[in-house]
Amino acid sequence: MTSHIADVLIPLALDTAYSYAVPDGLDLKEGDVVQVPLASREVVGVVWGLRSGQGGNLKKVTGVVDAPNLSAKMRKFLDWIAWYTLAPKGSALAMGLKLVDAERAEVVRVGVRLAGQLPKRMTPARQKVIEAAQDGVVRLKSELAHAAGVSAGVVDGLIDEGTLETVTLLQEPVAEAPNPDSGSAALSDGQQAAALELIASMAEEHPPVTLLEGVTGSGKTEVYFEAVAQAVRDGRQALILMPEIALTTQFLDRFAARFGVKPATWHSGVTGRKRERLYAAIASGEVRVVAGARSALFLPYADLGLIVVDEEHETAYKQDDGVHYHARDMAVVRGRIENASVVLASATPSIESRVNVQRGRYRHVQLPERFGGRQMPQIRAVDLRRETIPKGRWLSPTLNLSIEDTLGRGEQVLLFLNRRGYAPLTLCRACAHRYECPNCSAWLVEHRFRRSLVCHHCGHVERTPQACISCGSIDSLVPCGPGVERIAEEVAEIFPDKRCVVLSSDMLGGTERLRTELAAIADGAFDIVIGTQLVAKGHNFPLMTLVGVLDADIGLTSGDPRAAERTFQMLQQVTGRAGRGEKPGRALVQTWQPDHPVIAALVSGDAERFYEEETRVREIAGLPPFGRLASLIVSAAEREAAEAHARAMALVAQPPAGVTVLGPAEAPLALIRGRYRFRLLVKTEREVDLQAYLRDWLGRCPKVRGNARVAIDVDPQSF
Ligand code: ADP
Ligand code: ZN
Ligand code: ZN
Repeated sequence: MTSHIADVLIPLALDTAYSYAVPDGLDLKEGDVVQVPLASREVVGVVWGLRSGQGGNLKKVTGVVDAPNLSAKMRKFLDWIAWYTLAPKGSALAMGLKLVDAERAEVVRVGVRLAGQLPKRMTPARQKVIEAAQDGVVRLKSELAHAAGVSAGVVDGLIDEGTLETVTLLQEPVAEAPNPDSGSAALSDGQQAAALELIASMAEEHPPVTLLEGVTGSGKTEVYFEAVAQAVRDGRQALILMPEIALTTQFLDRFAARFGVKPATWHSGVTGRKRERLYAAIASGEVRVVAGARSALFLPYADLGLIVVDEEHETAYKQDDGVHYHARDMAVVRGRIENASVVLASATPSIESRVNVQRGRYRHVQLPERFGGRQMPQIRAVDLRRETIPKGRWLSPTLNLSIEDTLGRGEQVLLFLNRRGYAPLTLCRACAHRYECPNCSAWLVEHRFRRSLVCHHCGHVERTPQACISCGSIDSLVPCGPGVERIAEEVAEIFPDKRCVVLSSDMLGGTERLRTELAAIADGAFDIVIGTQLVAKGHNFPLMTLVGVLDADIGLTSGDPRAAERTFQMLQQVTGRAGRGEKPGRALVQTWQPDHPVIAALVSGDAERFYEEETRVREIAGLPPFGRLASLIVSAAEREAAEAHARAMALVAQPPAGVTVLGPAEAPLALIRGRYRFRLLVKTEREVDLQAYLRDWLGRCPKVRGNARVAIDVDPQSF
C-alpha cells in the first residue's frame, strides 16, 4: 500500500528537508507548517514536498501547526536564496518563518470569562481555572490557561460545560487601509512623467526593475508613492524597503499625508503580539503597505505587486552574518518570482544598478532637478594644506567664517564627521602604549560622555583608566584624532551661546531619543548639528543651509576597491542636506587631497564623469559587476587552526579556466571577537557559474575541525 511522505524543512542550519510519514487522515498541503520529531525533540518545520511512497520506517508528522501556509512563490524565493548564497536551506527558511500563535495573532479574538454554571465533574485542574477566572476579567483562552497553570484543553472543557462563556474581543486593526486617492500631491511635470512611467510598467506582463534616479530633494518619494497607490488600487500589496526604518518618522508622516494613514512598519524593534499580528495580517493580505528594514523582504505576502528599495546604494542592505545576502539584489529576485515591479530609488545609485541600466536589464527613470526650483547646494573644497589650524582643533578658519555667517542669518549648520565617540585612538605619552581591544585587531575608541573606551567591532567596554595600564603613569593618556564628541567640545568653545546637538548611533537614549532630536532639528531647536552618517541620509531639515564635512578623506585611504564609490555616495548624501528649504545651501568639504577624483567630482557636480571613470576601473580590474566575487572567511579561536584550515582548502581549490582563487591571507580585520580570520577570495569571469564552482570546491574540502568555521559571502560588499 502506498502512503504519503512529507519532506519537511526545519528552520535550523540544515541543508536538506527530512522525510516523515504522513499519518492516515492528516490532510497536508505543501507549505503547511507542521510539528515533527527531530532526535528527541519536537520541532516545527514546513512541508517542502509531498510524495507517495513507503513511509514504513519513517517517523511520523506529529500534527499541523495553525500558522500561515508558506506559498509556493515564497518557498521558491527561499530556495533561490539558499542556492545563491550557499547558506543551508533551513537557515534561509529561518528568515522567512515566524512562529505565530494563531490565537494571539487573530484580528478578532475570542476571550473567555466565568459564566457561573458549575461543571458536572470537578477536577483539580478545573478548580484552578475557576479560581483564576474568579475576578471576572475577559482573557484569551491561552492567557487563562497560562494563569491557571493548565493546558488549553481544560479551558475548552469548561466552555463545553457552560462554566466559561466566550466573548468576542474587538481590537484595533493591525494597520488601517491606506487610501490611494487621499491627499495626492500636485506633482511637477517631471515628477508626473516619472510616476506615469512607473505606473505603466506595473501593468506589463513581466513587470520590470526600474532605477529611479533623482538628485537629493528631487522628490523621488512623491513619485514612488504614486506607484504604491497604484498597487493598492490594483488590490495588491506594496513593500517599501528602507535602510534606517526605525528613524523615519518624517517618512511615516509624509506617507500619512499622502495615504491618510501610516504604513505598517516591520523591523527588529517591532516585537511581541504586534509582530505576530502583523505577520498574520501580511500573510492574509489584510495589510496592504509595509515599510520595513531588509528583513521585511522575507515576509509571506499574499500578493506582492510592488517593491521599492529606497536609497538602493546603501550598505545597510547587506546582511553580513548568518545568511549573507544583499536585500536590494534579493528584492529583484523576489519581484521576478512574485511578478511584482521593483523600483530602486537613489540620488547616488550603485555602480551595479547603473551597469544593469546600461545592459538593458533595468529601466531608467530620472529626476534631474530639485523640486520647486530649489538649487543644488554650492560645494567647495577647503584645502587643509593651506589652512592654519591649531593642534587639537579640526575646524578650519574658512569653515568657521562660514558657520558664523550662517548662524548670523539665523540658519542651521550641519557638521559631519563619520566617527563616533571622542577620539579613535588613545595612547600613553609616557610609554607609547596604544589601547587596543583584547578580542579584536582594532583600537579602542574613547567615549567621553560614557567615560569609557569602546571597541566598535565587538562592543567590549572598559572604564577609561586614571593611570596607564601598561606603565602606571598618571594623567599620561592622550586622545588622538577627533570623533563627533570632540568636535562638539571645539564648537562649544568657539560658539559658546549656540544650541548644539551631537547625533550618532550610540547616543544615550537610543532610537527614541534620536527620533525626538531629529524632529527637534527639523523644527529649528538647534543651531549646530554635529553628526555621523546617521544624519547624512534622507532627512529633510528645512532650515539647514550649511554643511561642513570635517574630513572628506576618511574612507578614501582604505584598500577596499569600493572605497571611492562609497565615499562619493556618502558625501553627495550629506552635502545634499543643505538648502532643501526656502533658502539656498552651501557645503564646505575639508580635505587634504582636493584633486582626488571623488572630491573633484563632488565639487564640480559632475557625477556622471566620476561614475564613468569608476566603472571603467572596475571593468579593467574584472571586479563586480564585470566579474564575480566571493569571499570565504575561515575563523577559529587559535590562529594556527584558522590558517591551517584555510591552507587545506586552498590546496584542493583546483580553479578551472575563468576562476582565480586568491589567498589565504589574513582578513582585513584579522581578529574579531576573539576569533582569528583568514580569507580566500574567489574571482571569476562574469559567465562562470560561481555557485556551482563553490559547491564543487567545498565538496572537496576537508571537514572543519574543532571550533573552526567557514563563512561564505557571495558578492561581498567590502573586500
Ligand atoms: P528626495 O527623496 O528625492 O531627496 P524628497 O522626496 O524627500 O526628495 O522631496 C524633497 C522635498 O520636496 C520634500 O520636502 C518634499 O515634501 C518636497 N516635495 C517633493 N515633491 C513635492 C510635490 N510634488 N509637492 C510638494 N512638495 C514636494
Ligand atoms: Zn603608559
Ligand atoms: Zn573588540
